[in-house]
Amino acid sequence: MPPELRDIRQADGVVVRSTGNWVDVQVGKRIISSRVRGRFRLSGQRVTNPVAVGDSVSVRIDDGDTGLIIDIHERRSYLSRRAAGRRVGHEQVLAANIDALWIVQSARLPRPNGRLIDRVLVTAEAQEIHAGIVINKMDLVSGDSAALVMHLRELYRGLGYEVYMTSAITGAGVDAFRQALAGRASVVTGPSGVGKSTLLSRAEPGLDLRAGAVSLKTRKGRHTTAHAALHPLSDGGAVIDTPGIREFGVTAQQPWELSHYFPEFRRYIHSCQYLRCTHDHEPGCSVKEAVEQQAITSDRYHSYRNILQSIRDGDADVGR
Ligand code: GDP
Repeated sequence: MPPELRDIRQADGVVVRSTGNWVDVQVGKRIISSRVRGRFRLSGQRVTNPVAVGDSVSVRIDDGDTGLIIDIHERRSYLSRRAAGRRVGHEQVLAANIDALWIVQSARLPRPNGRLIDRVLVTAEAQEIHAGIVINKMDLVSGDSAALVMHLRELYRGLGYEVYMTSAITGAGVDAFRQALAGRASVVTGPSGVGKSTLLSRAEPGLDLRAGAVSLKTRKGRHTTAHAALHPLSDGGAVIDTPGIREFGVTAQQPWELSHYFPEFRRYIHSCQYLRCTHDHEPGCSVKEAVEQQAITSDRYHSYRNILQSIRDGDADVGR
């Protein structure tokens, strides 16, 4: 064998960290710091980052023990957002090969945001990713907030979503949530302050999302930036955390497609007068009729119209 080929080895692994140009690939117990070769063209996708955390890849390992990514295996799912400053249609992939997407809210401080919950659920539905809701800070509930939490629990369980109620402070409900995380690659999202970091470190001691923040020294001074990372869990599975995921949104789709991602709308969609009814202004709309008859809640219908408007405005990303 010629000497230049002697140390070339190839292996399959999973991308566990991404800082942009370099990614860490876990191969067995080893972490191989790897570059991405040239421009990967993924079929039919316009992406700004071809390789994301969670991707399953093949790497060529050189004698310096760094790697070169030579193949990206097909993804079973991914989450993306519209790439900053790009036209609609260019996506930034935030995480790949996800089994579950969790939207965390707090029972109080801040109060639950149904619109945000629905946006996250739509994203999960569109990607065919299992979705669930966690309502944290249950130790703070009383009176009105208790009624709201119970309402949300009934509503979303009724739609088939898992709902967990936790207190990261007292530990109530945390075991059940930990069991839900086990064996799955999960993404945990939600507004800041709802207790995501506290909850995850309680569910998995040693898991510290805030440790993802890296301080970078640049010419403009010190900036704290964060990288995407996959944190393995002791019961199997992993939590994928990326800075963008905390404020990702529904990627643009056609307005008439949106209703397919509201499970309780599906049985009415095909009875509408118009084939591509957007359930907004059209006559003979079965979805609107179902809202009038309270078979679809007005809350969910409002969320639907809200997201529909974002799509029409060409601004389907949320949380900004
Ligand atoms: P994150 O921004 O979603 O990661 O939220 P953090 O984990 O940083 O928590 C925000 C604040 O809420 C912190 O002061 C936590 O101590 C507090 N907190 C987190 N979970 C709970 C909880 O279950 N109950 C109460 N009372 N406070 C909590």
